[in-house]
Amino acid sequence: MKDEEGKYGVIVCSRCKTPKTALLINQTTKCHQCGKKLILKKMKIHYRTDSKEEASWAIGRMNAEMSGGELPEKEDNKKERDPHVKASQEAEIADNEKERLEIISRVLSEELGSFKVDDVKRVYKLLGKENIEDLEEKIKRLEEIYEPEEGVFRSV
Ligand SMILES: [Zn+2]
Repeated sequence: MKDEEGKYGVIVCSRCKTPKTALLINQTTKCHQCGKKLILKKMKIHYRTDSKEEASWAIGRMNAEMSGGELPEKEDNKKERDPHVKASQEAEIADNEKERLEIISRVLSEELGSFKVDDVKRVYKLLGKENIEDLEEKIKRLEEIYEPEEGVFRSV
């Protein structure tokens, strides 16, 4: 797994606490919320990535975690915690194969950050479906799927 310095970093404004994406080759960036000039080397980089989409995704996640303080998951502690089981439960409502795969991809992305074909296979196994043909190809053909590195997927 290559995990060198990403091109984009997610930082949090030291004045107004708004998360933002910054191009890390720059020395400074300006907070779009309060206008504060932020010196990047002094900032904590919460998330690094080469993909702008991924950085936006990280910000969305941070915003969700900050708003209200309470994470939605905490309210339903009794719900299934295992990502594969959760994905299989949610996928039960799917009308067709494509929709099923979309739900599985989305839930696995939410729960795991990213997923591999084996994760999807585990979910299908829980659904009583094994040996799905060309599973990897089917995942790649989904419209909202993104492959940050070979064999690793994420819903966008
Ligand atoms: Zn600010």
